[in-house]
Amino acid sequence: MRTVDVSVMHEMFISAAECIIEKEPYLTEIDSIIGDGDHGTGMKRGFTAVKGMLERNTYDSMPELAKAVSIELIRSMGGASGVIFGTMFFGGISRLTEDSKADISELADYFYEGEKAIEKRGKSSPRQKTMLDALYPAVCAMKAYDGDDAAEFFEAAWRAAAAGAEESRNLISRKGRSSNFGDECIGLPDPGAVSTSILFEAFYNTVKQMK
Ligand code: ADP
Ligand code: MG
Repeated sequence: MRTVDVSVMHEMFISAAECIIEKEPYLTEIDSIIGDGDHGTGMKRGFTAVKGMLERNTYDSMPELAKAVSIELIRSMGGASGVIFGTMFFGGISRLTEDSKADISELADYFYEGEKAIEKRGKSSPRQKTMLDALYPAVCAMKAYDGDDAAEFFEAAWRAAAAGAEESRNLISRKGRSSNFGDECIGLPDPGAVSTSILFEAFYNTVKQMK
């Protein structure tokens, strides 16, 4: 099926939140070595708030759901990464029609615009050892997908994000706090790129189960 229903997207965000919460120790571990150690706890705080909000509410349209998730992330996380991960889900909202479902081509545009909005806000680009090193390949894979299956579409996004997070091990950080660590960052993946890969993995697993 080419479309994703708002109720499925709702489940996708809940599952993504649970996966981020579960992976908090690993995110903390890597951000403790190449950052200031707060990425895991920040993400956990943000996604715990999102999960709670999603369990209390229902949403009629895709943009309404995306907006609620973004605002809750920015509100509850604060700091640089609150804005960055909030923008991931907010930046492309104008690409979602006021409908209870979205076609995968619409979702590709939505995530693509979200990526562009992060580049603009963060004054960053791929290859600087940030979450963009997972998100950019993911949005390219979604744009390039030419099949008709939402699960396959998210699988392509996740595989590209995971490969990008893995490749971020070889990059020297140019943005954010890890840029203070120079060559010491090499060998470890960027924490935000790992988080991005976790989000897409959860999206894929949820859509796959809904088939
Ligand atoms: P902080 O940098 O405020 O301590 P976190 O530790 O929660 O925030 O998040 C760090 C992550 O945020 C990094 O791993 C990186 O992926 C992402 N990040 C930081 N700065 C930028 C930026 N300018 N553009 C894109 N992503 C960024
Ligand atoms: Mg940090």
